[in-house]
Amino acid sequence: MKTAMMQAMIFEGHGKPLLLKEIPVPEPGDDQVLIKIIACGICRTDLHVLDGELTKPKLPLVPGHEIIGTVAAAGKNVQDIKPGDLVGVPWLGYTCGTCKYCRQHKENLCQNAKFTGYTLDGGYAQFTVAYSKYCFKLSEQYHNPESAPLLCAGLIGYRSYHMINPDAQNIGMYGFGAAAHILIQIARAQNKKVFAFTRDGDAKSQSFARELGAYWVGGGADTPPEKLDASIIFAPAGELIPKALQDLDKGGTVICGGIHMSQIPAFSYDLLWEERAVRSVANLTREDGLNFFDLLKSITVHTQTELFLLPQANEAIDKLRKGQVKGAAVLVMDQPGD
Ligand SMILES: [Zn+2]
Ligand SMILES: [Zn+2]
Repeated sequence: MKTAMMQAMIFEGHGKPLLLKEIPVPEPGDDQVLIKIIACGICRTDLHVLDGELTKPKLPLVPGHEIIGTVAAAGKNVQDIKPGDLVGVPWLGYTCGTCKYCRQHKENLCQNAKFTGYTLDGGYAQFTVAYSKYCFKLSEQYHNPESAPLLCAGLIGYRSYHMINPDAQNIGMYGFGAAAHILIQIARAQNKKVFAFTRDGDAKSQSFARELGAYWVGGGADTPPEKLDASIIFAPAGELIPKALQDLDKGGTVICGGIHMSQIPAFSYDLLWEERAVRSVANLTREDGLNFFDLLKSITVHTQTELFLLPQANEAIDKLRKGQVKGAAVLVMDQPGD
């Protein structure tokens, strides 16, 4: 029998553009499903993989961890998902279930974890395989490319938001891209005041934030008119941490939203005094995903996406890098035989 082939964008090492290649469609293992991909979002973390800041990718690698697709085949141990089901595949691709962190319900910190589009092949391709227990079964309303960013930008945004004291009223968001534009809709539905900080002079992102209900918008260095109870930083710039602390009310928290940050400059202890806190958010748990999609049953979120075809991945990545994508960049698969 002739091996079925598919198109994929392949990463062979940092500093090199992705290569469009024809490779065999992967075969699912006993605990995996084969997924025909509808779309895959491009996440900022993908840039950190391509740039070598995340240092241990599988090579060669198919990047991408915001996957929406339909199950084409299931391995023999798979019971929870069947062919034809719509699924989403996130960054967390596998955990061991037995390490100290897994046993403490912190599977996001699992020491044997595998990550989609990093240590497992991901979604910049027409097909992928994924461990079924880490896929989210989705309802048909998510059967479109616009849903792809929910799988990481949405999920990590939600996990970051969840780290904030629920009583927090004034919430800052630094970096108004894929994650913040989803999260602001949730925060607004819960009557929070959102203060959006963009790159200095980025009028486009500022008006976008305003459209989505931001109470105040400004540049990263600007001082908001009120003290903030919490800030979430989605931009990879370490210098934003002391800046965000400076605008924070007593007892407030700065959350670093699942990104790889540049070095944090030294700052005065006064900025941390009065029980202010800084914390990072790493990865996600499956429970985060279930809670997030559960929440979306009561809050309608519209994602703003710019769509690209799979072979345009390098161009899309370049636009994302330059901050030229409004909302989220998503690769759409052009399926043969559709
Ligand atoms: Zn991501
Ligand atoms: Zn583990």
